Amino acid sequence: MFPNDIGGATVIVNNIAANGQQFNSTFKIKGQVYHKVGSLLPMPNESHKFLQIYFMRGENSERALANRVDARCDYHNLNSAFASRIVSELDALLNEQNELLKLFKSQMTKLQSDNHAIVINPDRHQLESIYVDSTHLLLTTLLESWLATDALQYPLIFWKGQDRYCVNIKQRNPVTGAETNKNVSSKDFYSYHLMIRRGRDNIILRCRELRQQFIVDMYVKIESERLRYLRYNQQKLRTEEYIHLRDAVANNADTAEIGNSVILPSSYVGSPRHMQEYIQDAMTFVREYGRPCLFITFTCNPKWKEITSLLLPGQNAMHRHDITARVFKQKLKSLINFTTKLHVFGFTRCWMYSVEWQKRGLPHAFILIWLVDKIRAENVDSLISAEIPDPSTDQLLFDIVTASMIHGPCRNLNRSSPCMVDGKCTKRFPKDFTNDTVTHVDGYPIYRRRSTENGGQTFIKTISYADIDIDNRWVNTHIQC
Ligand SMILES: [Zn+2]
Repeated sequence: MFPNDIGGATVIVNNIAANGQQFNSTFKIKGQVYHKVGSLLPMPNESHKFLQIYFMRGENSERALANRVDARCDYHNLNSAFASRIVSELDALLNEQNELLKLFKSQMTKLQSDNHAIVINPDRHQLESIYVDSTHLLLTTLLESWLATDALQYPLIFWKGQDRYCVNIKQRNPVTGAETNKNVSSKDFYSYHLMIRRGRDNIILRCRELRQQFIVDMYVKIESERLRYLRYNQQKLRTEEYIHLRDAVANNADTAEIGNSVILPSSYVGSPRHMQEYIQDAMTFVREYGRPCLFITFTCNPKWKEITSLLLPGQNAMHRHDITARVFKQKLKSLINFTTKLHVFGFTRCWMYSVEWQKRGLPHAFILIWLVDKIRAENVDSLISAEIPDPSTDQLLFDIVTASMIHGPCRNLNRSSPCMVDGKCTKRFPKDFTNDTVTHVDGYPIYRRRSTENGGQTFIKTISYADIDIDNRWVNTHIQC
């Protein structure tokens, strides 16, 4: 519809992995982002495209729309009659309701010649303007701080052409409702608009993949705002105290050659100083207390009822990263509290964790725990298990382990398992049966995996209509407490 041109290096991953497994689409942006809007009329001898379609008349307009619909239907394998109806309904809606479109159209008819430009003043407080030239091919960059940028970029989300974020929105006192002299940050603004509220429909939360693009795009706006702040407030951040600058001056280097580098403080997440701080913390723990006692991987399960119960019709967890992120964070916090405050593994000396994201976009955390009393070899089996639990003593744990902690199966039982490379399992399953846990001074322990003859459990898993008997050789290591 409107130009949807995101500058910078944009990557849309909608991939099917080499082994045929389908991944969910992920929208990623790397580098600087520019939003551009083109001319309202096409150049001589060129056909109408994007925004220009709205300024065509009669048959031409219908034909152009039909061509666009056909091209999209071929690409997405859609029913063309159905898609045409949706597009013409959307077209009618936008023509009737979208204030920006109405403004463009009314101004276009007033133009005496093609050399005029329509100028919209998108922000009454700042005398900046969006110029939409009628015939110049040059694209005009939309500044992200302008009120109308979101509505031009996402016309289906902001279908009324309504104003969005700008830098001058004032915070209000929550008690009196009076305006304060503090501005609302873009992070506060978009967090507020992405929130789920009881009894209130939120169109952004219904937009599935488009919503994901919107969130990533708006987060870039938030980051840019932070970076701009840091760039213009280097004095406040006492840059002269940063060590490499001091060193340069101490070594009699020419200060003019040091240049105007902008220093990101350690409070800026992901900056070298931020990472360095974490590395130093981790190194201190290891230096003081030796190797950690427990290394726990905590993964996000998109089937958790806290996630599925909040999904809207037609959605899966992939469409709602806001829910998965919040639920994961809450569960991670409660796991850490459970482990460190209730002393389930004994008194905790210190702990740390790091959250990463899988290819599918789901978060997982790696947690390191140092205990006051180190785990002794004879205690390992009571804390860590690589076996199927006995359902007669712990049905709940049995259900969880058999549903979520079983590897594959792969190898001969399922050659198309994602872990298979060159006919081998990259995770080295199935493991061997072992009657006792064996610990080494260095390296990983080999956990107990008993066969049925030695008291191990089995269960039946159905894969591709075949029932497979799963024993302890296929179990991922898990914590039992
Ligand atoms: Zn495998």
